[in-house]
Amino acid sequence: MKVIVLNCGSSSLKYQLFDMPAEQVLAKGLVERIGVTRAGDAPCFHHQRGDAKWEWNWPMTDHRTAVKKMLEVLTGPETGSLKSIAEIQAVGHRVVHGGPRYTRPVLVDSNVVEDIEVYSMYAPLHNPANALGIRVMREVLPSVPNIAVFDTSFHHTLPPQAFLYGLNGEIAGKYGIRRYGFHGLSHQYVSERAAMFLGKPLSSLRLVTCHIGNGTSICAVDGGKSVDISMGMTPLEGVIMGTRSGTIDPSIVELLMEKEKLNFQEIIDLLNRKSGLLGLSGVSSDIRDLEKAAREGHRRAQGALDVHTYQIKKYIGSYIFAMNGVDAIIFTAGIGENSSRCRAEICRHLDFLDTWLDEDKNRNCTGEALINTPDSKIKIAVIPTNEEIMIARATMAWK
Ligand code: ADP
Repeated sequence: MKVIVLNCGSSSLKYQLFDMPAEQVLAKGLVERIGVTRAGDAPCFHHQRGDAKWEWNWPMTDHRTAVKKMLEVLTGPETGSLKSIAEIQAVGHRVVHGGPRYTRPVLVDSNVVEDIEVYSMYAPLHNPANALGIRVMREVLPSVPNIAVFDTSFHHTLPPQAFLYGLNGEIAGKYGIRRYGFHGLSHQYVSERAAMFLGKPLSSLRLVTCHIGNGTSICAVDGGKSVDISMGMTPLEGVIMGTRSGTIDPSIVELLMEKEKLNFQEIIDLLNRKSGLLGLSGVSSDIRDLEKAAREGHRRAQGALDVHTYQIKKYIGSYIFAMNGVDAIIFTAGIGENSSRCRAEICRHLDFLDTWLDEDKNRNCTGEALINTPDSKIKIAVIPTNEEIMIARATMAWK
């Protein structure tokens, strides 16, 4: 059975074509700068089938054009993996916010699309694009079922003490203001893999899973259930990220509005796109650039890296306390999987927990790997994430 997994951003479309249940990736691709590219620009359409790669600079005026092109490429005589689009039996969509309602994947109908649009109030940067992707797919392939898979669902098990904010209860209840959490597909995937890797039932494990990428969230997973998560009602809360501030004192907003004469939209833009590692360092949001700059003596770059690892360390520590212990700390996503410096900084000085990082294993690890010393009480592991496979599995489950 052929399943397409789509991840629609405001100006991008990521796709993977799976053969299920074999979980084989037949093709994948990325369409960038939708609505902003003109012919002659750098390639905006990247497609891969096995080791073969293609790039095109087709102008992508909107998501509809991008989806149609994707289907042409997937069925093309040279680039294709399908004889015809009739082979596609289901489409799985990554949806960032499922609000209070969607605690599991759902077969999409018009009500679901409308709900996803309503929940744009909690994820204004993501949900509108997710809903648009679903609308376009339903239009282009009207007889194929679409399944929405939510980044928030895994966290529906948070207990009230973890999901409630210290706000007026009536107002919070009226608007569904609470911690929802994100990156659920990733935290669930790495938790399940970690249990297999450690050879223990997931139900017996307390894990802290650290999804450290451009967006970053730290999750406490007790017995396979999410019991706390650093992101909140929106993906802005928690540790500092590539360009997002993470948690700040809300009074800073008032000060900036008054002193800098910024309106609310400008403040939100500042907190989402110009803060975090980029804002602190003044150099880049990419950890590779910051690590290089820091090695060359750039003090602000080093300072930004220090804040980043310190905040992550604090969350890990608080979750260990909240779960009354921990069996393993798991690192995943772009930075978690690739930056041995980041992992080493976070796991330094854990002797008081009889826990030690093996510096060699940490520096040289590839794929899934244990990076603690043999006598370390808490296991430390790197587990590459795979959110797409979680969406493909959830989509399969509906057929
Ligand atoms: P997103 O949240 O956009 O999915 P990713 O999980 O792909 O982000 O993480 C992207 C980040 O991972 C990059 O900005 C970069 O900082 C970091 N990264 C990617 N590859 C490497 C690498 N080889 N070494 C260090 N950091 C890396």
